[in-house]
Amino acid sequence: MTDTLDIKITKTQQSRLAQTDFSNLPFGQIFTDHMLVVDYADGEWKNFQIVPYGPLELSPAISALHYGQAFFEGLKAYKHADGKVTIFRPDKNASRFNKSADRLCMPQLPEDIFVNSIAALVDLEREWIPTAPGHSLYIRPFMFATDPYLGVSPSKTYKFIVLCCPVGAYFSKPLRVKFESHYTRSAEGGFGYAKAAGNYGGSMEPFKRAAEEGFDQLIWTDAKEHLYVEEMGAANVMFVLDGKLVTPSTRDTILDGVTRDTVIALARDWGMPVEERRVSIAEVVEGAKNGSLTDAFGAGTAATIAPVGAMHYDGVDYPMSDPSTREFSQKVLKTLNAIRYGEAPDTHNWNFLVG
Ligand SMILES: *Cc1c(COP(=O)(O)O)cnc(C)c1O
Repeated sequence: MTDTLDIKITKTQQSRLAQTDFSNLPFGQIFTDHMLVVDYADGEWKNFQIVPYGPLELSPAISALHYGQAFFEGLKAYKHADGKVTIFRPDKNASRFNKSADRLCMPQLPEDIFVNSIAALVDLEREWIPTAPGHSLYIRPFMFATDPYLGVSPSKTYKFIVLCCPVGAYFSKPLRVKFESHYTRSAEGGFGYAKAAGNYGGSMEPFKRAAEEGFDQLIWTDAKEHLYVEEMGAANVMFVLDGKLVTPSTRDTILDGVTRDTVIALARDWGMPVEERRVSIAEVVEGAKNGSLTDAFGAGTAATIAPVGAMHYDGVDYPMSDPSTREFSQKVLKTLNAIRYGEAPDTHNWNFLVG
């Protein structure tokens, strides 16, 4: 804990809480009353403020807009039946935040400041945290360059901002996915492992094409040969093959997901073999054909588990079992929810207590 973390709080005069419909919470569209805004200048983080959520005034020349010096994080807070509020594994997001910053020549933010300033905002917004099953408060920290300068060089000033959105339970229908064999999300030596804004802008065109072809999502493959599995959309991809949890090992082309890490830890708790390695499309397709592939899903903070309903490769659809009958991903979902809402022991110390 930093005792020097001094946040100036300006509360809203007009809370939107009473008029918010908590039975209808589309993802990422409803924001809480306040946001955290911090400035970086002269080599240090300063002006820690919590202010009413609203527009910013910025120069149109900021390099975030022109050259993409911008990245984000995503994590969630949960309210337990006894009113306690916890944030799930914020230390992991704090360290990944700094990895992204490093790759984009942006300043580091000490991990305890990241976690404690977010906790201060969540504490102020605790009335906004929905309590219905599967509901949570989605937290979106991000950093961007603010120098009003059109030269291609690292900015000297930045903003760190945190927004919060109450979100509902995410019921992903089984997804029809294709293995992407033309476009590439990231390549070796690139910055696929960073949550850089540009990675997502560049994936929209391939997503649009896949949707036009009738797919809900695509599985990214390696940039060189398009023969190895990397990720699924903006989530990590995991398989149960021959009773083992199999997932691509993280490297510079793959985002090191907190959900991925959590699912691996649970599998190990249950004594299930885990393989983090290169995973070929061929072995996944073969498993779908011969029945040794019993589970396949995307893993990420927004959806937790997004089940694959059918995989498409080389002109052929490979349908999979009904997700509600899948032993592993169902157990993961149940266990994770129980831990997050304080209904099961948090043996890994994943819950960070707010306030
Ligand atoms: C955010 C993200 C993930 C999932 O990470 P979590 O920490 O589990 O939310 C996976 N892949 C990509 C490309 C991402 O942006």
